Amino acid sequence: MTQMHGDLDKAMSRCKVDEQVQENLRRCVAFHTFPAAGLLIATFMVDLALEKLGAGPGEKLYAVSETPKCAPDPLQVLLGCTTGNHRLRVINTGRFAITVNRFSEGTSADGIRVFIDAGKVKKYPTLHLWYTNDPGYKGGVTASTLQEEILCAGRDILSWEPVKVKFTPKEKWTSATCRKCGEMVPENTLEDGICGGCGSQAYYEKAG
Ligand SMILES: [Zn+2]
Repeated sequence: MTQMHGDLDKAMSRCKVDEQVQENLRRCVAFHTFPAAGLLIATFMVDLALEKLGAGPGEKLYAVSETPKCAPDPLQVLLGCTTGNHRLRVINTGRFAITVNRFSEGTSADGIRVFIDAGKVKKYPTLHLWYTNDPGYKGGVTASTLQEEILCAGRDILSWEPVKVKFTPKEKWTSATCRKCGEMVPENTLEDGICGGCGSQAYYEKAG
């Protein structure tokens, strides 16, 4: 762990990463438990999104991660957006992108979307191999050459755009009992009278 942070610190200083971003990277790596490539990139993404949104630290924000890989973590650590507090939505578009927005009444909010720009990645050979999942890439997600290219690139591989984030206002719900397991669930989640756990989202079988 110490060694890992030591290497990260050295690479960040070689790449002249901004002091605040360095601190953000250390916090995100500690939370994630290792310096994964996607995690480092997403930390730069959050920094860029905040700047373009004109948002300050501690401001109550909402976020979407378009991938379950790595990117949700900097949104949780740096913005306090979590799935539990309903300020983080994790979807899976297959794109490595995030969107950050402020609270808004109604059904949409102005936000900033930040994504990896495939055209810009091309000038970083190792990063490009990793990003395109090229069979020629032999390192892991924490390989030092890859890490250094990411840290030195910083925002240089990112693009951003203003967007209107769509969301559905909270629905009122009533409780109901699943006729299979007998547990209570919101009525609007039932599938032909049974809960998702007994139906389409079943993830276990009874043991013992
Ligand atoms: Zn059930």
